[in-house]
Amino acid sequence: MGERRCRYCQQVFQPSKFQPRQAVCNGAGCQRKRCTEYHREKIAADPEYREVCRDSGRKWRDRHPGYWKQYREKRPDAAEHNRQQQKLRDRKRRLRNLANNTSALDLKHSAAQVWLVGSGAAHLVNNNSALAQIWVIEAFPPRPVSSV
Ligand SMILES: [Zn+2]
Repeated sequence: MGERRCRYCQQVFQPSKFQPRQAVCNGAGCQRKRCTEYHREKIAADPEYREVCRDSGRKWRDRHPGYWKQYREKRPDAAEHNRQQQKLRDRKRRLRNLANNTSALDLKHSAAQVWLVGSGAAHLVNNNSALAQIWVIEAFPPRPVSSV
């Protein structure tokens, strides 16, 4: 049987004779990615599977009341990291909603570029997922000066 290239790590591997269509190597990290990807796609596509997963989480939380509260107290750095990640997810969701919002149809694309300057910009050189949002909002017309 021929060798294959892992779709995640790009290493060449020998597929298992029991899994002739194997597309991912046996590396723990690659198998975890494969599993996560499968789970994500299955949840999106299969309502029954989605419900079973949701229910399983519910049952676990019922058996372990206070687990997450304790977790956050024990690991304030992880809690803070999660808080920041949640803010990003919330922001993405708001942007998606805005894009689907008919009242935002007047949004115009701008050819403007953003230039990052200053000492902090050097840290962004290798960061190609830097998040930036620029909102250009029409200003209110100047209020007439009343002479009362
Ligand atoms: Zn791999």
